[in-house]
Amino acid sequence: MQIKRPSPKRRRRRVLLAAACLGLLVAGAAAALWLYDRPDPPGQAAPEAEDISPEGGSSADQDPSPTPEPVPEPASEPVSSAPPETDGFARLYYYEADKAQRYAEYARLHPELNEGEVVWRVNAGLDGRHYVDYEPARNTGSAHYIVSKYRRLPDDFVPEGLVDVGGYPMTAETAGAYYAFQAAGRAAGYRFSAVSGYRSIDSQRRLYEGYLQKDSAEVVDTYSARPGFSEHHTGRAVDLAGSSGGLLDFENTPECAYVHENAHLYGFILRYPQGWEWATGYQYEPWHITYVGVEIATDMFERGIPTLEEYTVKFIEHRPEH
Ligand SMILES: [Zn+2]
Repeated sequence: MQIKRPSPKRRRRRVLLAAACLGLLVAGAAAALWLYDRPDPPGQAAPEAEDISPEGGSSADQDPSPTPEPVPEPASEPVSSAPPETDGFARLYYYEADKAQRYAEYARLHPELNEGEVVWRVNAGLDGRHYVDYEPARNTGSAHYIVSKYRRLPDDFVPEGLVDVGGYPMTAETAGAYYAFQAAGRAAGYRFSAVSGYRSIDSQRRLYEGYLQKDSAEVVDTYSARPGFSEHHTGRAVDLAGSSGGLLDFENTPECAYVHENAHLYGFILRYPQGWEWATGYQYEPWHITYVGVEIATDMFERGIPTLEEYTVKFIEHRPEH
Protein backbone atom coordinates (compact mmCIF):
# COMPACT_ATOMS: atom_id res chain seq x y z
CA MET A 1 0.00 0.00 0.00
CA GLN A 2 1.37 3.32 -0.93
CA ILE A 3 1.34 6.18 1.52
CA LYS A 4 -0.06 9.22 -0.12
CA ARG A 5 2.07 12.24 0.60
CA PRO A 6 0.39 15.64 0.57
CA SER A 7 1.02 17.72 -2.44
CA PRO A 8 3.34 20.76 -2.02
CA LYS A 9 0.31 23.05 -2.35
CA ARG A 10 -1.42 21.28 0.52
CA ARG A 11 1.73 21.35 2.67
CA ARG A 12 1.93 25.12 2.22
CA ARG A 13 -1.70 25.45 3.39
CA ARG A 14 -0.88 23.45 6.55
CA VAL A 15 2.11 25.68 7.37
CA LEU A 16 -0.08 28.75 6.96
CA LEU A 17 -2.74 27.25 9.24
CA ALA A 18 -0.15 26.45 11.94
CA ALA A 19 1.24 29.98 11.76
CA ALA A 20 -2.29 31.42 12.14
CA CYS A 21 -2.93 29.23 15.23
CA LEU A 22 0.34 30.38 16.81
CA GLY A 23 -0.62 33.99 16.16
CA LEU A 24 -3.96 33.50 17.90
CA LEU A 25 -2.24 31.92 20.91
CA VAL A 26 0.17 34.87 21.23
CA ALA A 27 -2.70 37.35 20.94
CA GLY A 28 -4.68 35.44 23.58
CA ALA A 29 -1.77 35.45 26.00
CA ALA A 30 -1.26 39.18 25.49
CA ALA A 31 -4.94 39.85 26.18
CA ALA A 32 -4.79 37.77 29.36
CA LEU A 33 -1.75 39.70 30.57
CA TRP A 34 -3.49 43.01 29.84
CA LEU A 35 -6.55 41.96 31.83
CA TYR A 36 -4.39 40.80 34.71
CA ASP A 37 -2.59 44.15 34.95
CA ARG A 38 -5.69 46.28 34.61
CA PRO A 39 -6.71 48.23 37.75
CA ASP A 40 -10.13 47.42 39.25
CA PRO A 41 -12.96 49.49 37.85
CA PRO A 42 -13.84 52.33 40.23
CA GLY A 43 -16.55 51.74 42.81
CA GLN A 44 -16.41 47.98 42.52
CA ALA A 45 -14.79 45.88 45.20
CA ALA A 46 -12.58 43.18 43.80
CA PRO A 47 -13.22 39.82 45.44
CA GLU A 48 -9.58 39.50 46.48
CA ALA A 49 -8.60 37.41 49.47
CA GLU A 50 -7.90 40.45 51.68
CA ASP A 51 -11.47 41.67 51.23
CA ILE A 52 -12.80 38.58 52.94
CA SER A 53 -13.01 39.00 56.65
CA PRO A 54 -11.22 36.26 58.59
CA GLU A 55 -14.42 35.29 60.43
CA GLY A 56 -16.47 35.39 57.26
CA GLY A 57 -17.46 31.75 57.22
CA SER A 58 -18.00 32.30 53.53
CA SER A 59 -16.87 28.88 52.44
CA ALA A 60 -17.52 25.46 53.86
CA ASP A 61 -13.84 24.61 54.39
CA GLN A 62 -13.10 27.70 56.40
CA ASP A 63 -12.26 27.28 60.07
CA PRO A 64 -15.19 28.95 61.84
CA SER A 65 -12.90 30.42 64.51
CA PRO A 66 -9.50 31.12 62.97
CA THR A 67 -8.60 33.91 65.41
CA PRO A 68 -8.20 33.65 69.19
CA GLU A 69 -10.81 36.40 69.72
CA PRO A 70 -14.25 34.92 70.39
CA VAL A 71 -16.87 35.75 67.81
CA PRO A 72 -20.19 36.57 69.46
CA GLU A 73 -22.30 35.58 66.48
CA PRO A 74 -22.63 31.94 65.36
CA ALA A 75 -20.06 31.35 62.65
CA SER A 76 -21.46 28.26 60.95
CA GLU A 77 -23.57 29.52 58.08
CA PRO A 78 -24.74 27.78 54.97
CA VAL A 79 -22.68 28.58 51.90
CA SER A 80 -24.50 31.20 49.90
CA SER A 81 -23.98 32.61 46.46
CA ALA A 82 -23.69 36.18 47.79
CA PRO A 83 -20.40 38.00 47.23
CA PRO A 84 -17.96 36.85 49.92
CA GLU A 85 -17.37 40.30 51.42
CA THR A 86 -21.07 40.75 52.31
CA ASP A 87 -21.82 37.15 53.27
CA GLY A 88 -20.79 37.52 56.92
CA PHE A 89 -22.32 40.99 57.34
CA ALA A 90 -25.79 40.26 55.97
CA ARG A 91 -26.56 37.64 58.62
CA LEU A 92 -26.41 40.30 61.36
CA TYR A 93 -29.79 41.66 62.38
CA TYR A 94 -28.46 45.22 62.38
CA TYR A 95 -27.04 44.94 58.84
CA GLU A 96 -28.20 47.73 56.50
CA ALA A 97 -27.98 46.82 52.82
CA ASP A 98 -27.26 50.38 51.65
CA LYS A 99 -24.04 50.36 53.69
CA ALA A 100 -22.59 47.17 52.13
CA GLN A 101 -19.74 48.99 50.44
CA ARG A 102 -18.85 50.92 53.60
CA TYR A 103 -18.74 47.66 55.59
CA ALA A 104 -16.38 46.13 53.02
CA GLU A 105 -14.13 49.18 53.08
CA TYR A 106 -14.08 49.41 56.89
CA ALA A 107 -13.31 45.69 57.16
CA ARG A 108 -10.44 46.13 54.71
CA LEU A 109 -9.02 48.96 56.86
CA HIS A 110 -9.60 46.99 60.09
CA PRO A 111 -8.83 43.33 59.39
CA GLU A 112 -8.61 42.72 63.16
CA LEU A 113 -12.38 43.29 63.60
CA ASN A 114 -15.11 40.70 63.23
CA GLU A 115 -18.25 41.44 61.19
CA GLY A 116 -20.34 42.39 64.20
CA GLU A 117 -17.87 45.09 65.17
CA VAL A 118 -17.55 46.38 61.61
CA VAL A 119 -21.31 46.67 61.09
CA TRP A 120 -22.23 48.50 64.30
CA ARG A 121 -19.31 50.89 63.94
CA VAL A 122 -20.23 51.78 60.37
CA ASN A 123 -23.93 52.12 61.31
CA ALA A 124 -22.90 54.52 64.08
CA GLY A 125 -20.97 56.52 61.48
CA LEU A 126 -17.54 55.77 62.90
CA ASP A 127 -16.12 55.24 59.41
CA GLY A 128 -16.78 58.91 58.68
CA ARG A 129 -14.97 62.10 59.63
CA HIS A 130 -15.92 64.04 62.76
CA TYR A 131 -18.11 67.05 61.99
CA VAL A 132 -17.93 66.35 58.24
CA ASP A 133 -19.80 63.09 57.59
CA TYR A 134 -22.69 63.72 59.95
CA GLU A 135 -26.44 63.20 59.78
CA PRO A 136 -29.29 64.93 61.60
CA ALA A 137 -29.96 63.51 65.07
CA ARG A 138 -32.89 61.06 64.90
CA ASN A 139 -35.96 60.70 67.15
CA THR A 140 -35.20 63.85 69.08
CA GLY A 141 -38.62 63.68 70.73
CA SER A 142 -37.72 60.47 72.56
CA ALA A 143 -35.69 60.03 75.74
CA HIS A 144 -32.87 58.08 74.17
CA TYR A 145 -31.60 59.61 70.97
CA ILE A 146 -27.95 60.10 70.18
CA VAL A 147 -26.09 63.36 69.57
CA SER A 148 -22.44 63.02 68.68
CA LYS A 149 -19.79 64.18 66.22
CA TYR A 150 -21.82 62.21 63.64
CA ARG A 151 -25.35 63.26 64.69
CA ARG A 152 -26.18 66.95 64.75
CA LEU A 153 -29.09 68.82 66.28
CA PRO A 154 -30.79 71.60 64.30
CA ASP A 155 -29.62 75.11 65.22
CA ASP A 156 -33.04 76.08 66.55
CA PHE A 157 -33.52 72.92 68.61
CA VAL A 158 -34.72 73.51 72.15
CA PRO A 159 -35.85 70.50 74.20
CA GLU A 160 -39.43 70.68 75.42
CA GLY A 161 -40.30 71.32 79.04
CA LEU A 162 -36.98 72.42 80.46
CA VAL A 163 -36.99 72.88 84.22
CA ASP A 164 -34.46 74.69 86.36
CA VAL A 165 -32.27 72.65 88.71
CA GLY A 166 -30.20 75.05 90.79
CA GLY A 167 -29.54 77.30 87.81
CA TYR A 168 -29.04 74.45 85.34
CA PRO A 169 -31.93 73.65 82.98
CA MET A 170 -32.77 69.98 82.25
CA THR A 171 -35.70 68.18 80.67
CA ALA A 172 -38.37 67.35 83.25
CA GLU A 173 -37.57 63.63 83.08
CA THR A 174 -33.87 64.29 83.56
CA ALA A 175 -34.52 66.61 86.50
CA GLY A 176 -36.81 64.08 88.19
CA ALA A 177 -34.24 61.31 87.81
CA TYR A 178 -31.46 63.60 88.99
CA TYR A 179 -33.33 64.54 92.18
CA ALA A 180 -34.07 60.89 92.94
CA PHE A 181 -30.44 59.90 92.35
CA GLN A 182 -29.14 62.78 94.42
CA ALA A 183 -31.49 61.92 97.33
CA ALA A 184 -30.44 58.25 97.24
CA GLY A 185 -26.80 59.33 97.23
CA ARG A 186 -27.31 61.55 100.25
CA ALA A 187 -29.02 58.75 102.13
CA ALA A 188 -25.96 56.60 101.42
CA GLY A 189 -23.54 59.34 102.50
CA TYR A 190 -22.58 60.76 99.10
CA ARG A 191 -23.10 64.38 98.17
CA PHE A 192 -22.96 65.39 94.55
CA SER A 193 -24.62 68.14 92.57
CA ALA A 194 -25.08 69.39 89.03
CA VAL A 195 -22.64 71.98 87.75
CA SER A 196 -23.90 71.99 84.16
CA GLY A 197 -27.07 71.03 82.31
CA TYR A 198 -28.76 72.25 79.12
CA ARG A 199 -26.79 74.57 76.85
CA SER A 200 -28.28 76.41 73.90
CA ILE A 201 -26.36 76.39 70.65
CA ASP A 202 -25.18 79.94 71.38
CA SER A 203 -23.85 79.11 74.83
CA GLN A 204 -22.11 76.04 73.38
CA ARG A 205 -20.57 78.25 70.68
CA ARG A 206 -19.27 80.71 73.26
CA LEU A 207 -17.85 77.88 75.35
CA TYR A 208 -16.15 76.17 72.40
CA GLU A 209 -14.73 79.42 71.05
CA GLY A 210 -13.49 80.32 74.52
CA TYR A 211 -11.53 77.05 74.66
CA LEU A 212 -10.04 77.86 71.25
CA GLN A 213 -8.34 80.86 72.88
CA LYS A 214 -6.08 78.52 74.82
CA ASP A 215 -6.00 75.23 72.86
CA SER A 216 -5.86 74.20 69.21
CA ALA A 217 -9.07 72.92 67.61
CA GLU A 218 -7.56 69.45 67.54
CA VAL A 219 -7.17 69.48 71.32
CA VAL A 220 -10.44 71.28 72.07
CA ASP A 221 -12.31 68.70 70.01
CA THR A 222 -11.26 65.99 72.46
CA TYR A 223 -13.06 67.66 75.37
CA SER A 224 -15.63 70.12 74.06
CA ALA A 225 -18.32 69.74 71.40
CA ARG A 226 -18.78 72.10 68.51
CA PRO A 227 -22.10 73.96 68.50
CA GLY A 228 -24.95 71.72 67.29
CA PHE A 229 -23.11 68.54 68.28
CA SER A 230 -23.21 68.90 72.06
CA GLU A 231 -25.09 66.47 74.27
CA HIS A 232 -25.74 69.34 76.64
CA HIS A 233 -27.96 70.78 73.89
CA THR A 234 -30.39 67.88 74.50
CA GLY A 235 -31.17 68.88 78.09
CA ARG A 236 -30.44 65.30 79.19
CA ALA A 237 -26.74 65.69 80.05
CA VAL A 238 -25.60 66.63 83.54
CA ASP A 239 -22.07 67.37 84.73
CA LEU A 240 -21.44 66.58 88.38
CA ALA A 241 -19.20 67.81 91.15
CA GLY A 242 -18.65 65.72 94.27
CA SER A 243 -18.34 66.58 97.95
CA SER A 244 -15.11 68.50 97.33
CA GLY A 245 -13.77 70.48 94.41
CA GLY A 246 -15.36 71.02 91.02
CA LEU A 247 -16.08 68.96 87.96
CA LEU A 248 -12.42 68.18 87.22
CA ASP A 249 -11.95 66.87 90.78
CA PHE A 250 -14.99 64.60 90.63
CA GLU A 251 -12.97 61.46 89.88
CA ASN A 252 -11.01 61.88 93.12
CA THR A 253 -14.10 62.06 95.33
CA PRO A 254 -15.93 59.06 96.83
CA GLU A 255 -19.01 60.21 94.91
CA CYS A 256 -17.46 59.21 91.58
CA ALA A 257 -17.50 55.46 92.23
CA TYR A 258 -20.96 55.69 93.76
CA VAL A 259 -22.32 57.52 90.71
CA HIS A 260 -20.72 55.11 88.25
CA GLU A 261 -22.09 52.06 90.05
CA ASN A 262 -25.62 53.36 90.60
CA ALA A 263 -26.43 55.82 87.79
CA HIS A 264 -28.27 53.17 85.74
CA LEU A 265 -30.78 52.62 88.56
CA TYR A 266 -31.98 56.18 87.96
CA GLY A 267 -31.81 56.11 84.16
CA PHE A 268 -28.36 57.66 83.68
CA ILE A 269 -25.34 56.39 81.79
CA LEU A 270 -21.73 57.48 81.89
CA ARG A 271 -21.68 58.90 78.38
CA TYR A 272 -17.92 59.18 77.77
CA PRO A 273 -16.35 56.13 79.43
CA GLN A 274 -12.65 55.44 79.74
CA GLY A 275 -11.14 53.41 76.91
CA TRP A 276 -13.96 54.19 74.46
CA GLU A 277 -12.66 57.52 73.18
CA TRP A 278 -12.44 56.04 69.66
CA ALA A 279 -16.21 55.43 69.73
CA THR A 280 -17.50 58.53 71.52
CA GLY A 281 -15.00 60.95 70.03
CA TYR A 282 -14.28 62.45 73.47
CA GLN A 283 -11.82 61.89 76.25
CA TYR A 284 -12.96 60.17 79.42
CA GLU A 285 -15.43 62.34 81.35
CA PRO A 286 -16.13 60.74 84.73
CA TRP A 287 -18.46 63.64 85.67
CA HIS A 288 -20.76 63.62 82.62
CA ILE A 289 -23.92 61.54 82.91
CA THR A 290 -26.80 61.37 80.43
CA TYR A 291 -30.41 60.48 81.03
CA VAL A 292 -31.65 57.67 78.76
CA GLY A 293 -34.31 56.15 81.04
CA VAL A 294 -34.04 53.31 83.56
CA GLU A 295 -34.83 50.56 81.05
CA ILE A 296 -32.05 51.44 78.61
CA ALA A 297 -29.51 52.47 81.24
CA THR A 298 -30.03 49.20 83.12
CA ASP A 299 -29.95 47.13 79.93
CA MET A 300 -26.65 48.75 78.88
CA PHE A 301 -25.23 48.16 82.35
CA GLU A 302 -26.30 44.51 82.47
CA ARG A 303 -25.20 43.73 78.91
CA GLY A 304 -21.89 45.49 79.48
CA ILE A 305 -22.34 47.78 76.48
CA PRO A 306 -20.60 50.97 77.56
CA THR A 307 -21.39 53.34 74.70
CA LEU A 308 -24.65 54.78 73.44
CA GLU A 309 -23.14 54.53 69.96
CA GLU A 310 -23.11 50.71 70.05
CA TYR A 311 -26.32 50.32 72.02
CA THR A 312 -28.28 52.60 69.70
CA VAL A 313 -27.33 50.49 66.67
CA LYS A 314 -28.00 47.13 68.30
CA PHE A 315 -31.01 47.77 70.51
CA ILE A 316 -32.74 50.99 69.47
CA GLU A 317 -32.41 51.41 65.70
CA HIS A 318 -32.54 47.62 65.32
CA ARG A 319 -33.77 44.96 67.72
CA PRO A 320 -32.57 41.40 67.99
CA GLU A 321 -35.15 38.74 67.18
CA HIS A 322 -36.24 36.67 70.11
ZN1 LIG B 1 -20.75 67.43 80.12
